[in-house]
Amino acid sequence: MRTPLIAGNWKMNGSASLVEDFGRAFAEKSFPASLDVVILPPFPYLDAARRAFDGTRLRLGAQTLNPLHSGARTGEVSGRMLKEFGVEFALVGHSERRQLYREDDAAVYDRLLAALNTDITPILCVGETLEERDAGKTMDVVLRQVGYVMARLEPEQRTRIAIAYEPVWAIGTGRTATPDQAQEVMAGIREYQASFDRDLAAGMRLLYGGSMNADNAAELLAQPDIDGGLVGGASLKVDDFLAICQSA
Ligand code: PGA
Repeated sequence: MRTPLIAGNWKMNGSASLVEDFGRAFAEKSFPASLDVVILPPFPYLDAARRAFDGTRLRLGAQTLNPLHSGARTGEVSGRMLKEFGVEFALVGHSERRQLYREDDAAVYDRLLAALNTDITPILCVGETLEERDAGKTMDVVLRQVGYVMARLEPEQRTRIAIAYEPVWAIGTGRTATPDQAQEVMAGIREYQASFDRDLAAGMRLLYGGSMNADNAAELLAQPDIDGGLVGGASLKVDDFLAICQSA
């Protein structure tokens, strides 16, 4: 059985008071025993979030990390630093990083390895653009992104990652993939993982991301290969995010 994982990617949004609001709201609610809930705030809020989330079900994640432990990398943050602030998860390869900061598959792999090496669970984000979907290349693109990383990892390392399938055309657009569209791609990812190892495929958590909200979460999460969600916009509203967690 795979433990559902709901991750709230705040991107470059949020505030110190939103951190407090989440801490308070989650302290009062109860959740199924088997559910992981993670908030990924911007770096400056990590320390406050660690304190505000103490005693709640909320765990901490980071939106990216640098491949190095330390050094001359102005503006960057390392996994080792994140670990000091209680970070347990990190996104790698989010489409905004791939597009706006030109992170290619090699750069994504370096970051994923840095997370594994600091005992942080990487959530590898993959997904096709609308152009690629329309050209019938969805599975090629997604399996290239997944395969680049998988082929380079040791078998044991492969068991310590999660994958988020986020169609780029669904991110921040309000246009969610239908449950069938998401399920089809995610079943394809799991089938591909089974070509490495059946147990690996059966145990790996696959998240859907792209305009997931309180209204569509239950239907998406009911799909057999969708084990959770990577939530952007709706993770900035306490009530919406709570509702998504409760539908998991
Ligand atoms: P969205 O973002 O939920 O606002 O579409 C998802 C993401 O980018 O992780």
